[in-house]
Amino acid sequence: MSISANDPNRKTWLEIPENSDFPIQNIPFGVFLTRDDVITIGTRIGDYAIDLGALHQLGYFDGIPLTDDIFLQDTLNDFISDGKKTWRLVRNRIADIFDENNTALKENDDHRTRVLFTLDEIEMQMPVQVGDYTDFYSSKEHATNVGSMFRDPDNALLPNWLHIPVGYHGRSSSIIPSGIPVHRPQGQTMPADADTPVFGPSKRVDFELEMAFITTDANHIGEPIPVDEAEDYIFGMVIFNDWSARDIQKWEYVPLGPFLAKNFASSISPWIVTMDALEPFRTESPKPEKELLPYLKYTGKKSFDINLEVSLEPEGGSEETITRSNFKYLYWNMSQQLAHHTVNGCPVNSGDMMASGTISGSTEDSFGSMLELTWSGSKPLKLKDGSERKFIEDNDTVIMRGHCQNGQYRIGFGEVRSKLLPVYQPKKK
Ligand code: MN
Repeated sequence: MSISANDPNRKTWLEIPENSDFPIQNIPFGVFLTRDDVITIGTRIGDYAIDLGALHQLGYFDGIPLTDDIFLQDTLNDFISDGKKTWRLVRNRIADIFDENNTALKENDDHRTRVLFTLDEIEMQMPVQVGDYTDFYSSKEHATNVGSMFRDPDNALLPNWLHIPVGYHGRSSSIIPSGIPVHRPQGQTMPADADTPVFGPSKRVDFELEMAFITTDANHIGEPIPVDEAEDYIFGMVIFNDWSARDIQKWEYVPLGPFLAKNFASSISPWIVTMDALEPFRTESPKPEKELLPYLKYTGKKSFDINLEVSLEPEGGSEETITRSNFKYLYWNMSQQLAHHTVNGCPVNSGDMMASGTISGSTEDSFGSMLELTWSGSKPLKLKDGSERKFIEDNDTVIMRGHCQNGQYRIGFGEVRSKLLPVYQPKKK
């Protein structure tokens, strides 16, 4: 089945701002609360949020095998379970409904009022209920930088790194959508030159510039997913800010890896951009530096050219970009990650989220965390307002954005924006 929704020549009857992340060729999926306090599944074209539950009730998806309530839910999990063929039929149909040559909805005032919302009338929610969350560590540049700072510059990359897409299991309970503020975590740290640990607010709160993919039901327990079939089970992607507390991390991570330094919050962009929409932006991954074991060898282009950037906005100040990177720099691609994750028979379900690990480029202006940008605080960033940052300060807002661009159109993710609040204070009773 062709992806007619990707037709670069298609125009819509909706007004689209120039350089929008959401032209009619994007058609992402999300969940939002409407002006009437109803939760619905929707898509976005330009600056309009579109209620798919209403469209379905009005018969616009007739002929596509969908249950009556598939879009009247507070998560996308069931729709994602329907599989790739259904995602593609629905996306193609949405493109048709909003095509400039289709007058059915365009000229029906009553239907339009029920289906279309402006962004200030809605509030984005978590798009899926995340059952399980895994964080990989797939940027060679990031792993090398962190290994140099936390361990030994001469042996920065551990011996397994070039053979295994290294990862760990995180917490899904603290994954939150853009716009929700995060409190500075407290925890246990070992100050330099001390011999007993102390408890208090983390002094080294950081972001990690990552992307995450969302899976459908992929396998039964015991059944590995072959690397070249892995993409059939990936619904789409979001931008992922994996908030981190570096001082807590440094003390706690031996020998089992990250724990409380990572699971206090991770923030995501709320619109899931489908793999179908990203199809025109396929590109090569870096060449493997070691012979890969057969289950990790893939054919074709399995990475995507996605421009990424992080901005910082101090309280009352203006936003400035502090780094630019690209998803295509990742050494391990999503197909290898999913093949590796399931090679032992671990089951993967609809709504599972797998993050890439911090995406750093090879140059200092493309590093994906403050830890790397300031080299563990030794080279503070100077901001336009004259202040300096080693890590993220209370009331700073971190904004991440991502988009693909070719000669024909731009497909973007919007943004994930979150403010770091001071340490949580219990409310007085
Ligand atoms: Mn991470």
